[in-house]
Amino acid sequence: MIIMNSDATKEQIDAIVKEIKKYGLRADVSRGAYRTVIGLVGDESKVPFDRFAILPGVKEARMVETPYKLISREYAKLSGEESEHRVVKAGDIEIGGSEPVFMAGPCAVESKAQLLKIAEGVKMAGAHVLRGGIFKPRSSVHSFQGLGAGGEEEAKEALLWLREAGDRFEMPVVTEIRGEGQVDLVADYVDIIQIGARNMYDQDLLTKVARKGKPILYKRHFGAGIEEFLSFAEYMVAENNRDIILCERGILPLGKGRNYTRYTLDISAVPAIQKETYLPIIIDPSHAAGRRDLVFNLSCAGIAAGACGLLIEVHHNPVEALVDGQQMITPDELKDVINTCQRIHQAIGPRKN
Ligand code: PEP
Ligand code: MN
Repeated sequence: MIIMNSDATKEQIDAIVKEIKKYGLRADVSRGAYRTVIGLVGDESKVPFDRFAILPGVKEARMVETPYKLISREYAKLSGEESEHRVVKAGDIEIGGSEPVFMAGPCAVESKAQLLKIAEGVKMAGAHVLRGGIFKPRSSVHSFQGLGAGGEEEAKEALLWLREAGDRFEMPVVTEIRGEGQVDLVADYVDIIQIGARNMYDQDLLTKVARKGKPILYKRHFGAGIEEFLSFAEYMVAENNRDIILCERGILPLGKGRNYTRYTLDISAVPAIQKETYLPIIIDPSHAAGRRDLVFNLSCAGIAAGACGLLIEVHHNPVEALVDGQQMITPDELKDVINTCQRIHQAIGPRKN
């Protein structure tokens, strides 16, 4: 990264950007309150850092060895640009602000009536964001893949229901995209685009979604270490989209752990990640547990660990659900989760990380 003098001129900054481009790299220009910091995006081994250090207006040219830097606290601090935390705005909702945000809704959108009923229920329970899957990532080709699998018309219809439900109950909406071909379509309807755990590593998808400029709910893969998760998040910030909400949703359980929970919720990832990056992180207790009787406690634990919010699967009649019925809670149960988590949040006070 190139750290400019606090009195560097626009011409000097432009000259550095031009110079970076000469080496086939891109420049992430972060104009902060005190100074401008320019992050190099691309293969840095091609760049003679010593040469940059002596160009006019440059305070320091520093090689950063970590695989992620644009999302790092260190980078943000240098420019003084980011406040301590990134607050991601979706409609009137702030994710990463002073209050925890609750996102809730069915695993999959099944019908308009189902979605509207659940949307009303989660709103009454105190949820802020409505979720609903239309393109479902499934382990078996023989299971329900979401209404989006029926073709573009079916996908559009379901997206319209989601939009309508969100508008009617005044909640921004989030749905997952599973492949590059769905990005343009989905981006027209939703406030937040979800990238699921199984797609965490898909660089081309990350880039394409990031370019839409909308907030992204980005899930950690169940086999990914924290460094990998953050390194791949960097792909989106490299496209100049800093509205990334990270989501911990459980990692592969050890031994016979799978007999007890679907995944293992990595609670310690929350404060550990908050030390590294200014991006907000939320918890998905539903996919981690895979069973509804654990969702309450895991939700409490997530908020106690400092998560900025929760993503919870809710259905008015879980036994009827086509997908993930075993882990969905009812709107009444959600209300209890939200009330209790708000009290926990009060008790632990402002974020320590
Ligand atoms: C989901 O949120 O619907 C989902 C499939 O989650 P994950 O990608 O975490 O498995
Ligand atoms: Mn699900």
